[in-house]
Amino acid sequence: FDVHGAPIIGNDHQLKGIVLVFHDITELKKLEQTRKDFVANVSHELKTPVTSLKGFTETLLGGAMDDEELRLKFLTIIAKESERLESLIHDLLELSKIEGEQFQLRWQKLKLESIVDEVLVMLEEKALQKNVSLEFEVNGNTTIEGDPYRLKQVIINIVNNAVSYTPEDGEITVRLLEETETVILEVEDTGIGISKKELPRLFERFYRVDRARSRNSGGTGLGLAIVKHLSEAHKAKVTVESEVGKGTLFRLEFRKERYEDNKENEDQID
Ligand code: ADP
Repeated sequence: FDVHGAPIIGNDHQLKGIVLVFHDITELKKLEQTRKDFVANVSHELKTPVTSLKGFTETLLGGAMDDEELRLKFLTIIAKESERLESLIHDLLELSKIEGEQFQLRWQKLKLESIVDEVLVMLEEKALQKNVSLEFEVNGNTTIEGDPYRLKQVIINIVNNAVSYTPEDGEITVRLLEETETVILEVEDTGIGISKKELPRLFERFYRVDRARSRNSGGTGLGLAIVKHLSEAHKAKVTVESEVGKGTLFRLEFRKERYEDNKENEDQID
């Protein structure tokens, strides 16, 4: 509590009482803590690849360069860590843009089916390398109102996760299903799954069930935070069902038409 006090003085200049105002600042404190945690997380996440880049460069300069095998090994690590750093900075900038007050979606009529097609082409190679199959089923007309660029980001993050967290020979099925007022997108995998305990925290920034696995798959821990924000901006409902060792199902329900209050910003751009 934040407490302010003021005396009540009577006409006879005597102290009659004191007014105390108790201000509940629990929410403010929580917000402040979240901000602090975020800065600490970002610093940590940035520091890890930089330390590794510095270490391997110094080792190379210190003589390892003369050994052909070591040179190749260390340069490969340096290239991978630079890429990680690049994705992290990219995701951080995206998240800060999406969370910013100026952020606006560029609404238009679009076909979800075409966006999913593009995403599957992008991720085909990654799935193939693990012999993971990518099936796509469409039922009905998948036209909705939304921001195609942002929806592609959402779908990439979810399908990319499905590929990352599904071991060799697994299966991923993407489904689009038209309902009366919505179009449902489902991404189902036969991967490692997520326990009930972890599910509520999944969409937090930097939350990972297994940090090492996420790092290995090139994850930044920000993908689902981005998904959450963009889905909320589209007024889409997101649900996750999962069973450890069996697989995971992400379901997004998109409204075919945007809410009236979203229409005010029709012609503005972000
Ligand atoms: P990351 O970059 O680590 O993948 P995300 O925000 O995209 O970060 O996801 C957060 C965490 O949720 C992941 O680290 C992973 O532990 C878990 N996760 C996301 N999608 C799946 C999935 N399809 N199967 C199992 N775990 C998943």
